[in-house]
Amino acid sequence: MRLHNTYTKAVEELAPIEPGRIRVYNCGPTVYDSPHVGNFRTFAFGDMLRRYLEYRGFQVAQIMNLTDVGHLTQDHVEAGVDKMEEGLRRLREQGVNVSNPYEVADYFIKEFHEARRALNFRDAHRFPRATDHVPDMIRLIQALLEKGAAYRVGGNVYYDVTKFPAYGRLSGNTLEQIKAGARIEINPEKRHPADFALWKTDPRHLMQFDSPWGRGFPGWHIECSAMSMKYLGEQLDIHTGGEDNIFPHHECEIAQSEAATGKAPFVKHWMHARHLLWDGKKMSKSEGTFFTIEDLLRKGYSGHAIRYALVSTHYRQQVNYTLKSFDDAKAAVARLDELNRRLQGVYGAGVSGSETLQSLCEAAEKKFVAFMDDDLNVSGALGVVHEFARDVNKALDDGSVSSASAGAALKTLVDLCDSVFGFLPPVAGSGPPPDILELGRSRQEARARRDWKESDRLRDEIRAKGWIVEDTKEGPKWKRG
Ligand code: AMP
Ligand code: ZN
Repeated sequence: MRLHNTYTKAVEELAPIEPGRIRVYNCGPTVYDSPHVGNFRTFAFGDMLRRYLEYRGFQVAQIMNLTDVGHLTQDHVEAGVDKMEEGLRRLREQGVNVSNPYEVADYFIKEFHEARRALNFRDAHRFPRATDHVPDMIRLIQALLEKGAAYRVGGNVYYDVTKFPAYGRLSGNTLEQIKAGARIEINPEKRHPADFALWKTDPRHLMQFDSPWGRGFPGWHIECSAMSMKYLGEQLDIHTGGEDNIFPHHECEIAQSEAATGKAPFVKHWMHARHLLWDGKKMSKSEGTFFTIEDLLRKGYSGHAIRYALVSTHYRQQVNYTLKSFDDAKAAVARLDELNRRLQGVYGAGVSGSETLQSLCEAAEKKFVAFMDDDLNVSGALGVVHEFARDVNKALDDGSVSSASAGAALKTLVDLCDSVFGFLPPVAGSGPPPDILELGRSRQEARARRDWKESDRLRDEIRAKGWIVEDTKEGPKWKRG
C-alpha cells in the first residue's frame, strides 16, 4: 500500500513501525464553534483511511484530539479576545444557556460527535481533550527546557527554532524566509520570529492552569505532541490534518516531539487533505458559504449521501462543492441502496441457479484494492464499484442469480461500500454485514475456549464498527450501536 507523504512530497510504501499495526493521529476539531462541511471533509478522509487500513488487515490505533483550550491567536492577541469567549457570546446569542468555557467546549464536542455519528464514522479509540492533558504538556515543556530546546521569559516559555536544524522541512519554509517575512516583531521576548509559545501567561485567557512558570495556558502545538505520544508512543505511522495544519502546527509538532525524544521521524507519513471550497469561495459565515452537517441534514440529505459527497474525491485534490454535489451523491447512494435491497431479497429467498457472480466479485475487489492501494485513488475505486453494480444488476435482471451468488455479491458490496466507504445505508431489519458476523463468530469461539480477554476485545472491535452484540440464551443478539 502506498500513501503520499507531505514530508518527502512523494508517494511511499507504507511500512508499519510494528508489523500489522498502524498508529494514526488525526488533528481533530477546535471546539469553540460548530464544525463546517470543510472540516468534515478532512475528518471523513481520516475515517476512510482508518476503514481502508482495517479492510487491508491492519490493526489500527486511532486517536483524534479535541482542542478545547481557547487560543489567543496572533490576531486575537492584538484584539485581546479569547476564542472561547467568542464561542460563549455566540451561544448566548442563540439562547443557549452556557456560563463558562468548559460548557462551551462540551456543547460543541456534543455537536461534533452527533455530526460524526450521522456520517457513520467509526469511533476513534480515544478522543482526548486538551484540558485533560495539561500535566502531560507541562512535562513535555520541562523536557524541552532541560534539553535547551526551549527558553523561558518570565511566565512564558518559547521553543527555540534555531536549535532544530530540520525546522521548515515539512512546509518548505526556511528560517531566513520566516525572518524576512516577519512583520515588525510585535513580541520582543522571542529570540527568533519563528519561535513559538509552549506556555503563555495572559490574564485575558479564560482557561488558566497552574504550572512551574505560573498560572497560564499551553500553546496549541504542544497539545498534539503531548497527546499523540501519550497514546501512540514516541513515533507514529500516520498523522493527518487539513492542509492549513502543515504550517505552523505540524512543523512545530515535529520540532517539539523530535527534540524531546531524540527520535526521528516523529511521524512516518504526514497526510494532509486539501481544503473544500463552497461555490468557489472559502467557507465563511459572512459569504453565506458556511454549512454545517446539521444544515445539510435539515435540507434532507442523508448522512450516507453527505458522506458519499465528502469521500468521493481524492483527498489531495481541492474540491468545490455546491448543493448539486450532494444531489449527485444522493442519487449514487440510492442506486447502491437499491442493489443492496435486490441482493438481500435473492439471498434470503434460497434460490438455486448459476454461480456466475463469484469471479465478478473477486475481479472487482482486486481492482478496487489496486486503486485504493495507490494513495487512496477513490475515483478509480468508485468507478469499480459502479461498474460492479451495473454488472450485478444486469445479472439480476436476467434472473440467473442464485442465493449463494447473491451472498457473494452482497459481501463485496458491503465490504467496499460499507466497510471501506461507509456510505451504504443499512437495509431495515437486516442483521449485521458479513465482516461483523465474522467477528461475532470469532468472539463465540473465544468464549467457548473461555478466552474472555479476546472475547472482550472482539466485542469492542464490533462496537467500534457500529454494532452491539448481546449474549442471550438463544445465542448472540445484534443491535445497531
Ligand atoms: P479547526 O477546527 O479549525 O482546527 O479545523 C479542523 C480540521 O479541519 C483541521 O484539520 C483543518 O485543517 C480542517 N479544515 C478547515 N477548513 C477546511 C476546509 N475548508 N476544507 C477541508 N478541511 C478544512
Ligand atoms: Zn493538532
